[in-house]
Amino acid sequence: MGNASSIDSSVVVYLEVSGKQEKIVFSKHCSSRDIHDLVAQAAGCSKYCILTLKDPNGAHISMSPTMPSNTPSAPYKVQVSQPTSNQGDSEVLTQLMTHVADQFNKAFKVEEMRSEISTRLTALERKLEMEGLKAVEIEKCKKDISEIKDQIWTAQKKFVDFNRMSIEDASSLSDERKICLKRDIPSYPKYTLSQETIDYLKQPTFDIWHWEPNEMLSLLEHMYHELGLVKEFSINPITLKRWLLCVQENYRNNPFHNFRHCFCVTQMMYGMIHLCKLWDYMTREEIGILLTASVCHDLDHPGYNNTYQINARTELAIRYNDISPLENHHCAVSFQILCNPETNIFANLDKDGFKRVRAGITQLILATDMARHSEIIESFKSKLEGKFDFKSKEQLDTLKMVLIKCCDISNEVRPMEVSEPWVDCLLEEYFNQSDREKMEGLPVAPFMDRDKVTKPTAQIGFIKFVLIPMFETVSKLFPQIDETMVQPLRLARDRYEGMKEQTTPPNPKSQKDQAAKKDGE
Ligand code: 5GP
Ligand code: MN
Repeated sequence: MGNASSIDSSVVVYLEVSGKQEKIVFSKHCSSRDIHDLVAQAAGCSKYCILTLKDPNGAHISMSPTMPSNTPSAPYKVQVSQPTSNQGDSEVLTQLMTHVADQFNKAFKVEEMRSEISTRLTALERKLEMEGLKAVEIEKCKKDISEIKDQIWTAQKKFVDFNRMSIEDASSLSDERKICLKRDIPSYPKYTLSQETIDYLKQPTFDIWHWEPNEMLSLLEHMYHELGLVKEFSINPITLKRWLLCVQENYRNNPFHNFRHCFCVTQMMYGMIHLCKLWDYMTREEIGILLTASVCHDLDHPGYNNTYQINARTELAIRYNDISPLENHHCAVSFQILCNPETNIFANLDKDGFKRVRAGITQLILATDMARHSEIIESFKSKLEGKFDFKSKEQLDTLKMVLIKCCDISNEVRPMEVSEPWVDCLLEEYFNQSDREKMEGLPVAPFMDRDKVTKPTAQIGFIKFVLIPMFETVSKLFPQIDETMVQPLRLARDRYEGMKEQTTPPNPKSQKDQAAKKDGE
């Protein structure tokens, strides 16, 4: 049995940050870097800060998945060294330079070795070709060649591994932590949902902050049963639980793109399915595609957007040729999970059924790339010009793409108390990215720059030019969303505009102009 504060593969550690107690929980299978970032999050500082952990006796504790767990009465003290930004920058720069120099050295050595081996190999091959070699000499040569080939293979493998490591480092990806289920379902207890929760779950006003991760799993599970999807796809109920658990494990602890965001998007989709009675317009299979794409749509999001991936030439951008690298990755991880028999909720579908579901989910996840926003909305609008034809596959596919897009960016549809914390989460993730882009000398988008963006400025444009037009367009087909979704968006816009006025210092020039105008009247 593990120690008292670890449940299966989870480790619980208590921290003391400036006299305040904090608790972190992580998996034994995560990386030291994840734990470092988690401690930084608990300490309320940037993950680029220098962090030290000490036990009550003053001993230094290393931050690693095997670090000893502790009790609330003997927390580890967290010390944060907050270097001035210049110091911080130069330290990071020195680290980066050392890393780069190290990489060059390794690359150079491997290259040197490869060229030497290659010269020797050519010489041996020439010797072999020469006439008059005795049989024993030929055998010896062959043996030498085979040994050299082995050496080349090892050197090449090292070279490739080293290159992969450095690219993964830059993109924060770690393939090892993915896909397989780290813990099994017994640690995921069955919650009995009250009738009140069951009804409330269908509303866009549902308080998504109220639930622990295990409770969110139960709520998601409930949606699959309640919508008749377990029956439709003949899903083994245990597989459903395992799949959800595996999905949860493959969302990272990003400020915004985390498992709670996945839950929000899926809950909004569930709400829209009920509000619009989508079963009157599409098959259960299509409803299953909508819900499952929502659950999977941001799997293994690294917390840095496509622009970063492309500009930093990360492994993902290279793999997907700069074409929606993240969305392609979310989709690939989704099907790595769904191709594992233990977590395949579509295992009982026939070949064609699985093909259709796979094509449907892929299409929807790929549609969440905001770079395709106008293309998708324009296509939907053109289909609304005539009478929308729910029987046409093309038209219905476009509607489904618009629906997942709506749910993906629907935080501002929710009541203010629910939506506002999400803006902080989004900005935290944006600022993480822009700080890193500044450090790495990459272009920084103004909307991500901590010196340029504020909460109201981030939201007003997004609500006015992205959210309201999109939801208004959907309300032409489903008028019932006007009251429950469009109206809250208008209120949110007005509230942020008020907030902006309060926080913007009066512009002396415009005040003067106004005074002059008044005088002239
Ligand atoms: P994703 O698929 O990444 O979750 O959502 C698409 C993108 O829309 C997000 O990465 C983010 O840039 C943007 N987005 C989503 N919700 C909001 C929001 O409430 N405000 C702003 N300004 N952008 C948002
Ligand atoms: Mn998303």
